[in-house]
Amino acid sequence: MAGPATFSAPNSAGGALRVDLGALVANWRLLSTVAAPAMCGAVVKADAYGVGVAKAAPALAAAGCTTFFVATLDEAIELRGLLGPGPTIFMFNGILPGTAEDTHSHGIVPVLNDLGQIEEWHGLASRSDTPLPAALHTDTGMSRLGLPPSEVATLSNEPRRMEGIDLRLVMSHLACAEDPDNPMNEAQLIEFLRQKAALLPGPASLANSSGIFLGAGYHFELVRPGVALYGA
Ligand SMILES: *Cc1c(COP(=O)(O)O)cnc(C)c1O
Repeated sequence: MAGPATFSAPNSAGGALRVDLGALVANWRLLSTVAAPAMCGAVVKADAYGVGVAKAAPALAAAGCTTFFVATLDEAIELRGLLGPGPTIFMFNGILPGTAEDTHSHGIVPVLNDLGQIEEWHGLASRSDTPLPAALHTDTGMSRLGLPPSEVATLSNEPRRMEGIDLRLVMSHLACAEDPDNPMNEAQLIEFLRQKAALLPGPASLANSSGIFLGAGYHFELVRPGVALYGA
């Protein structure tokens, strides 16, 4: 992996912000190679981990990255402005009350985390009579985010809840991937496969940065590196 994406604040001579975009792009290319044939996205939440999303995201897009992840709607709208209409932008926080219309109008794909968020997105799809894209986040371990197994079962028994929702991705988050020997990794993988089978078929994503190095079985169709892009 190339060295840290270095960053220095404006200097006394008034120099501009300097970000080592070369290292960032090299890291993304390396992770893409490890993940192939799965696609490699980029997590650019929290101002691209402090590196500066305004520089980082366009550099990654120019290198061929077409799928980005942020946490909040503000981040998603800023990123849409930086990247234009082409790239896919997933928003981890999903639909908070009153944000469905804005999310839709900016072409953001929410990651739906509970039955209430699914209901909001389903409601907007019904009112606007258009299928709306979304990801589903399921809880396969000890994460606090995502649908617990009982709600995955509810969805599978009541497919009406997903009507009007164009399911683009089923995803879950590994709790202990930085420890490759932790049995939790395989337990989460097995649970993820079980949950995926209960939902509609479609692309899936399990691996964050460390998850990519657990092996091809963890890659599915898309990987979601964050910290490894920035040199950690
Ligand atoms: C932050 C985040 C990632 C990226 O994790 P890293 O460990 O930084 O690679 C991936 N998925 C989700 C859901 C996240 O919140």
